[in-house]
Amino acid sequence: PPRNSTAIRDVASVLHPYTDARAHQKNGPLVITRGEGVRVFDDQGKSYIETVAGLWCAALGFHNERLVQAATKQMRQLPFYHGFTGRTHEPQVDLAEMLLERAPVPMSKVFFANSGSEANDSAIKMIWYYNNAVGRPQKKKIISRLKGYHGVTIASASLTGLPYNHKFFDLPIAGILHTGTPHHYHNARPGESEEAFATRLAEELDAMIVAEGPETVAAFFAEPVMGAGGVIIPPATYFEKIQAVLKKHDVLLVADEVICGFGRTGEYWGSQSLGMRPDILTCAKALSSSYLPISAVMVNERVFEGLADGSAGLGTFGHGFTYSGHPVAAAVAVETLKIYDEIDIVGHVKRVAPTMQDGLRALAGHPLVGEVRGMGLIGAVELVADKATHANFDPALKIAPRLVKIAESHGLILRSLPNDSIAFSPPLVITEAEITDMVTRFGAALDELAVTLRR
Ligand code: PLP
Repeated sequence: PPRNSTAIRDVASVLHPYTDARAHQKNGPLVITRGEGVRVFDDQGKSYIETVAGLWCAALGFHNERLVQAATKQMRQLPFYHGFTGRTHEPQVDLAEMLLERAPVPMSKVFFANSGSEANDSAIKMIWYYNNAVGRPQKKKIISRLKGYHGVTIASASLTGLPYNHKFFDLPIAGILHTGTPHHYHNARPGESEEAFATRLAEELDAMIVAEGPETVAAFFAEPVMGAGGVIIPPATYFEKIQAVLKKHDVLLVADEVICGFGRTGEYWGSQSLGMRPDILTCAKALSSSYLPISAVMVNERVFEGLADGSAGLGTFGHGFTYSGHPVAAAVAVETLKIYDEIDIVGHVKRVAPTMQDGLRALAGHPLVGEVRGMGLIGAVELVADKATHANFDPALKIAPRLVKIAESHGLILRSLPNDSIAFSPPLVITEAEITDMVTRFGAALDELAVTLRR
């Protein structure tokens, strides 16, 4: 490439998230220049179907004029104001009302932040503050799950249950514990039914809370469907059994809806698809179709009352971001939620999801495929070395990253997850024809990988 190309300048100047910096110095970036619908285009003009909507987030696809208009209108009207010390502005009030109207269970108030990580950190601080306010400051431990993903700031990275988010960072911080992953394919015992597996996981959680002392355990964080940990759909009855344990020990449930919220699982919230009744709900990503950064934490009346009593008694709830409820991001989110209503996003997902789920499941017989899983417009295809034992390939073979590379030549941007799983989470507006195209191209890439492995 020419010396002044974006690629060369990138290598010289940008430190990339989640990137092997040495390999990047050698291989350079994929430069994306524009988007349209479910596709993005690189600097050579080549088009790709974005099978994960960027990072599970550009729900309305990669160009939406109404969101552009909403942003510019708000920028002209009031480009910035904040919510500190009781100030407000209309976009954040509109958005809070819309979220409360749409909440999966009755919620009382909405706190705004800028990212999923910040939303989860904020939720942890609210829980700690709340328990201080109601006179039980020792009830502060938080439990999440191995392979859960909740972000990368110090506290949310601690919630995250993936080794590479902890290693070399001295994480998790004290008081954040992890319980088992609800993945039947890998973690169930031979012959164990989904229900028996769910019962065992709930018993393990119960035992962990009892061992720690229920008076020290404050909350349990869970994604309805684990996303970055591998698109893991919990076994039947899982959340019902988990919630019975939480109730017994008076432990709050936080639903991390950062990926699942706004239609992804085939209901408006993953909590509805999976039967969760959270006390606190965090969301981001599709909240604004990711056109601007914004996230939200919804709290129920009980938590709000505690926080309110606390800020009267203990002193101000000392937490908030310069950009909490940023008016331009909030205006874009309001417009996004209006569009979801107008196009009946949930109805659309329900209509097109079988094309994706059936299409991917048709690949289950492929020699490289171990498990195909998913619901709504989220799914994963897991590659295995041994279909009988479910053993994955030696990680050193980098099987999934190889498939990602091959797929680029088939016009697909794929995302690989742990255990050589390939994620599918396309823009929610994807059509059936586009899904068929995506699945066909993926099948061709898989065949090409099999040829290179002679399988
Ligand atoms: N929670 C979940 C379920 C996520 O998938 C993510 C990001 O992928 C986060 C939290 C963190 O969000 P962010 O990257 O915006 O901080």
